[in-house]
Amino acid sequence: MTLANGLTYLAIPGPSVMPERVLQAMHRAAPNIYSGELVDMVPHLVTQLKSVARTKHHAAIYIVNGHGTWEAALANTINAGDTVLVPATGQFAFGWAEMAQRLGINVELMDFGNRTSFDLDAIEQRLRADDAHKIKAVLAVHTDTSTGIRNDIAALRKTIDAANHPALLMADCMASLGCDRFEMDDWGVDVMVAGSQKGLMTPPGMGFVFFNDKADAARDAIDRVSQYWDWRPRVNPGVFYEYFAGTAPTHHLYGLREALQMIEDETMKGVWARHAGLAKAIWAAFDHWGTDGPLEVNAADPAIRSHSVTALMVHSEKGTALRDWCQTKTGLTLGIGLGMADAGAPEWHHFFRLGHMGHVNAQMILGALATIEAGLKATNIPHAPGGIVKAADVIADLA
Ligand SMILES: *Cc1c(COP(=O)(O)O)cnc(C)c1O
Repeated sequence: MTLANGLTYLAIPGPSVMPERVLQAMHRAAPNIYSGELVDMVPHLVTQLKSVARTKHHAAIYIVNGHGTWEAALANTINAGDTVLVPATGQFAFGWAEMAQRLGINVELMDFGNRTSFDLDAIEQRLRADDAHKIKAVLAVHTDTSTGIRNDIAALRKTIDAANHPALLMADCMASLGCDRFEMDDWGVDVMVAGSQKGLMTPPGMGFVFFNDKADAARDAIDRVSQYWDWRPRVNPGVFYEYFAGTAPTHHLYGLREALQMIEDETMKGVWARHAGLAKAIWAAFDHWGTDGPLEVNAADPAIRSHSVTALMVHSEKGTALRDWCQTKTGLTLGIGLGMADAGAPEWHHFFRLGHMGHVNAQMILGALATIEAGLKATNIPHAPGGIVKAADVIADLA
């Protein structure tokens, strides 16, 4: 029997659940791209994007996914042959590092594994040892979506400053923007990249590169930036099409307009508090289930847990069975484990993730958690029953 028909919850974790308002705003005829509403609304969207990023500097919009923003950020700041430092706490740092490598940039990786945050002392030592300042930038992922680890970007800035090093600080906030507190200017981040499809609740296909004047000064020293990647016309367009180096992503912009308005109406503090509260309920359930049995939140320390995605392990191949059960029997689609084990290895089935970013509320999360508790039972994964009660207690106390 299946009980899956009805509203589904895609928790894979990205693309994320899209609000009805966003979907409806995109359902329209093609707008004129030379004058009228679309042309008039973009400057305000840029202002709203900057306030979500907590920056008063520059926001460039690209028609790309997250990978495209990685390349855009590097193309404007780092020459082939220059060096970047990449501290890694999961899959996505390796992706950005590989992007850099393929552009001819020397990459120094510091791999901190899958279960802890950065070792800031080790990073400071590495930067101090770089007397010649060969390292031009530190590329750091804020929330790693594969491991559920949230790195302390403000502390990383302090570490770079303590080493007296001029490297740019670049942050990947693909999974955290619009979910977890992030303060680009206050934390001293020079470049930040994000995509439309996670906390920003809009389909994949738009990417954002935020940068300050220090990063823009690095742009002057770049030998060759393609017309398409160049961020300068995008933030200071003479003609409308230069925002996008071509045709505007018309329907995405209409969707994004609704999403940004929803965020503005809720306020950034409200958005952060909602994600923090829901995350607390999620941890209460998982931590309780794990008191008797193999289930474990990948990030043991709550201080380094993301508020937008939780990575779990069950130490047996039943992780996949649980995901399949939830999807086919109940309409909840959980995420696969990413980068925790080789695809094809039996251990690949030990992991799963719950995405809780963007357009999610307490009833969705309590529904998802109750479903997971049913799934643990149905797939015979040993656990302490009653995690859902712990989550309900958290929500009752918060709301
Ligand atoms: C999703 C994600 C990316 C990649 O985005 P794509 O749109 O798949 O290219 C990069 N970094 C992080 C942290 C992500 O969560």
